[in-house]
Amino acid sequence: MAAEVWRTRHRFWVETPLGVGAEPRLDALAHQLGAVLRLKPGDAIVLVNGDGCEYLARLTEVGARRAAAHVFDLRPTNADPRIELTLYMATLKQDKFEWVLQKATELGVARIVPVVSRRSVVRHPATLAGKRLRWLAIVREATEQCGRTRPPILADAIEVHAVNLPADSHGLLAWEEAGDNAPSLGAAVSGVAGAVAAGQPLALLVGPEGGLAVDEVQRLTADGWQMVSLGRRILRAETAALAAVAIVMERCGELA
Ligand code: SAH
Repeated sequence: MAAEVWRTRHRFWVETPLGVGAEPRLDALAHQLGAVLRLKPGDAIVLVNGDGCEYLARLTEVGARRAAAHVFDLRPTNADPRIELTLYMATLKQDKFEWVLQKATELGVARIVPVVSRRSVVRHPATLAGKRLRWLAIVREATEQCGRTRPPILADAIEVHAVNLPADSHGLLAWEEAGDNAPSLGAAVSGVAGAVAAGQPLALLVGPEGGLAVDEVQRLTADGWQMVSLGRRILRAETAALAAVAIVMERCGELA
């Protein structure tokens, strides 16, 4: 019975502890469950709360502002990433940056740090702070959609000169002017894939539409970031972010 029921596409994030037999209130989801999805009591949904499991439940109540469910099965989820990749992403025009947030979440990034560089189009801290709730909703929705139980951590935006590579992390800086004296991203990741699979955090930095300034690159390499190339073509920032995260994930066995 539970096998085909687990295939329900209705997955929701809740903040409450869960377990078999739990009767969680879902009042905050009532409108989405009833008016939007037209679900009714008896329908199966999956609940996740970030504890590494997913919970199969049947709705017991669906009203305009009230809803509840009864949890009757659980299983450990294997959709959460096993490596710790932080994407330091230069802020981009709104739709492009939000697209990167969604794709990085689907691909398994553990943490996202918006980075304001000199050539960032969106620079003002107040503007960026104002987008945080929207950004959190985007990564939460992408988390639910792809089957993860824990959303990526969304850090506060920081200026590029305030970026400090954490001591335990290996940092990879994608620079379009790295030229022949930098390894390809794939080769660089292969060199550390074992350590990363064993738990070493990995950081990846991608610049803005206008590229990183030489002095910004110099400061980052002085801080320990390894310059890497994404090939002979100049990729748009959002293309570079998607390609780079996919290359890291694939080399570390996350896309198998
Ligand atoms: N300076 C470019 C635009 C930068 S591309 C121009 O004038 O068109 C945006 C970001 O994507 C860069 O900052 C870099 O982080 C990354 N990127 C794009 N192509 C790349 C490549 N071939 N190798 C490494 N990084 C690249």
